[in-house]
Amino acid sequence: MKKPNIVVLGAGYGGLMTTVKLQKKLGVNDAHITLVNKHDYHYEATWLHEVAAGTISPDQARFPIKDVVDLSKVNFLQDTVVSIQPDDNKVILEDGELEYDYLVVALGFEAATFGIPGLLENAFTLGNINSSRLIREHIDYNFAMYNNEKDKKQERLNIVVGGGGFTGIEFLGELANRIPELCKEYDIDRDQVRIINVEGAPTILPGFDPQLVEYTLNSLEARGVEFKVGALLKGCTPEGIVVEKDGEQEEIPTFTTIWAAGVRANSIVEHSGLEHNRGKVEVKPDLRAPSHENVFVVGDCALIWNKETDRPFPPTAQIAMQEAEVCAHNLATLVSGGNELEGFEFNNMGTVASLGHGDAMGVIMGDKKLFGWSASVMKKIIDNRSLLKLGGIGLMLKKGKFNIF
Ligand code: FAD
Ligand code: NAD
Repeated sequence: MKKPNIVVLGAGYGGLMTTVKLQKKLGVNDAHITLVNKHDYHYEATWLHEVAAGTISPDQARFPIKDVVDLSKVNFLQDTVVSIQPDDNKVILEDGELEYDYLVVALGFEAATFGIPGLLENAFTLGNINSSRLIREHIDYNFAMYNNEKDKKQERLNIVVGGGGFTGIEFLGELANRIPELCKEYDIDRDQVRIINVEGAPTILPGFDPQLVEYTLNSLEARGVEFKVGALLKGCTPEGIVVEKDGEQEEIPTFTTIWAAGVRANSIVEHSGLEHNRGKVEVKPDLRAPSHENVFVVGDCALIWNKETDRPFPPTAQIAMQEAEVCAHNLATLVSGGNELEGFEFNNMGTVASLGHGDAMGVIMGDKKLFGWSASVMKKIIDNRSLLKLGGIGLMLKKGKFNIF
């Protein structure tokens, strides 16, 4: 009997975890497994704010895929997916095409710019290792230039972060710690530097626990972050941004705008012919696409409704990894001829956000609030646990975060 072809697209949390689980569940005679990813490494997307601020090196946040994928069981293809043709069971790559019997779409997120003029062209995003490293180098360059020009340009020292959700806040925490180091390195007075957060909602972290929001504001303001809440970023040029608050517009001159105000699914999904809801596939409980029974979708490309809140679950690494386990289980069942597929149930372990080394805040175990040092230790445990789940203890010891003081 012909072995089925399983193709997994993307080696982020969802795709890599699915592959790691599949290689344990299936023997080489059960199926051909192919994993496709743009790079030959996996990056911890949840650490990109640290890469962008320059508080960790890009290499700490990534590891070779071959370190966790068994290449005797899985065919790894470093290539870029161009399109998915689910009616023909085909995937088009930059350097060829693949046919599949079963497909797992795990192509992750991209920045949502909501059509705001100039953002796509002029703002930086925390999208992957390279875009995050660019932020670090751009900030370094502007600090280096500042004292090397006769007409000193304040735009070089104004840094704007658009969006006060978890990504924006985590980045601000790292940046607030990094700026004093940069000031020392480039002979710049700290008071010259402005870090400005622009958040459209009346508060940062809208909907999150008010006490922890207050804690976050105090922690970041104490380190010099300025907040503009209830202020929408309306436009971006290479020289600055336009902000609108209470009907009034203000221009803020800056050479550095980091857009962290929301994500969407990889746009390949929207153009794939899979049935979608604003670019995401609203998967069935067994994680298959309603329009195509042999296509599973996990991670930020999938939409799952939270019946308790009547809203979709937020896109997180946590949910992506849990979905991957169910996806791998269901694929193994189908490959071995079964048809009783497991339904996905999200087990919410909580949310903890870093505010820079030594500080964090969050909620775990339903309603237990944490902040300060204990929260920062918990955040490191969460980060290390992700490595442990993807690559075992060896990977965790090699790449993990153990500096808790
Ligand atoms: P991704 O992790 O985005 O992986 C997608 C993979 O597909 C990547 O390897 C990419 O290179 C590859 N790919 C993309 N396009 C192509 C293509 N065309 N061809 C081939 N390969 C391609 N979530 C949490 O739970 N906890 C956190 O603390 C947390 N912190 C975060 C901090 C930051 C700064 C950011 C930006 C996000 C954070 N998140 C966090 C959200 C979390 O990172 C995402 O929800 C998660 O990465 C989604 O996983 P995924 O597998 O769907 O996609
Ligand atoms: P988000 O959608 O959660 O937050 C975006 C923020 O930008 C919102 O507060 C929104 O009001 C604001 N915004 C939107 N348009 C704006 C505009 N024009 N001007 C000003 N502000 C504007 O996006 P995110 O923070 O990138 O998070 C993405 C996902 O990743 C979420 O599911 C989040 O929970 C997850 N995440 C989790 C963690 C963690 O658990 N530690 C860390 C980072 C991200």
